Amino acid sequence: MNGFKYLFAAAAVLILIVFGLTRFGNNRESIKQEKNEKINVNEHGYSTVDTPVPDEEPVPGTFAGAPKAEEPVGKDPKEADNTWAMYLINNDNPLPDKYDDVIELEQVDKTYREYDLDKRAAKYYIEMKKAAEEDGVDLITASAYRTYVYQQSNFDNSLQERIDRGMSHDEAYADTISQVELPGKSEHNAGLAVDILSNEHASMDDDGFKDTEAFKWLDEHAAEYGFILRYPEGKTAITGIIYEPWHYRFVGKYYAKDIKESGLCMEEYFEEKGWLDEDGVAIDHTIYTQNPDLKEPGKDEVTEDGDDSEESADESSDEDAADEDEDSEE
Ligand SMILES: [Zn+2]
Repeated sequence: MNGFKYLFAAAAVLILIVFGLTRFGNNRESIKQEKNEKINVNEHGYSTVDTPVPDEEPVPGTFAGAPKAEEPVGKDPKEADNTWAMYLINNDNPLPDKYDDVIELEQVDKTYREYDLDKRAAKYYIEMKKAAEEDGVDLITASAYRTYVYQQSNFDNSLQERIDRGMSHDEAYADTISQVELPGKSEHNAGLAVDILSNEHASMDDDGFKDTEAFKWLDEHAAEYGFILRYPEGKTAITGIIYEPWHYRFVGKYYAKDIKESGLCMEEYFEEKGWLDEDGVAIDHTIYTQNPDLKEPGKDEVTEDGDDSEESADESSDEDAADEDEDSEE
């Protein structure tokens, strides 16, 4: 009897202690997060955080729930992960109309505002950002998913801003289109692209981000999380987009590593694989073949057998008359 009472008392005390610790820990955590947010916005780095949280000493490069970055993905394309994401988005390969209506999003960051990605890719970005942070590298999410409407206003604003600076309409249009895609032609509209900056260089006005620690980190690690630098230096003639050291595109770990190792940009990679026709339109690894739920325009029925290559499709029949009526930035 006595023994039981003692046991009960001991258990009660233990529960109280654990409860107290948990609450205390949570408070510390939220204080820390708030601080980080403020510091992130206003200053360089986190060095002024004055209350280190003892129970989660970060081990550089590791964290709970991390994808096994070291885990070999294998060389066989059959082992490729996230193949749904491996499709081309550019002028010749627009997204379906109203993709906004079908995309499922998940929030990946919330600093200046809320940032979302395709929910299938979201966790990879969250994990990458966390890993960078634990390596002492701050990544600032500057842009992620954009609606078609937002993309259009982005384009229009960029255009107008150039006109206001004294460019002719044509000059301004040409300059804008080299940096901002029209709606449906931007990877941001697919929720697969993130523009990443850091406190060291938080501007997209020039390519200075390439000289930052954050860029170095991304260059080394982004592929481990399935992201590639989409508009590399020297590839503008092929991608149609200027060198953008900040724009990262999710393609899954297998293809991210393979593309990085190849040194090719995504258009070249597709061409080498034989996935493009002579007009640069994808005939394999299209958004339709990779995402069977999507109905290709003009094709009501998706054939059930032949699990891939729905073949090409002339989806180029779309709009494109529009000159400034659609936008998307890359
Ligand atoms: Zn971008």
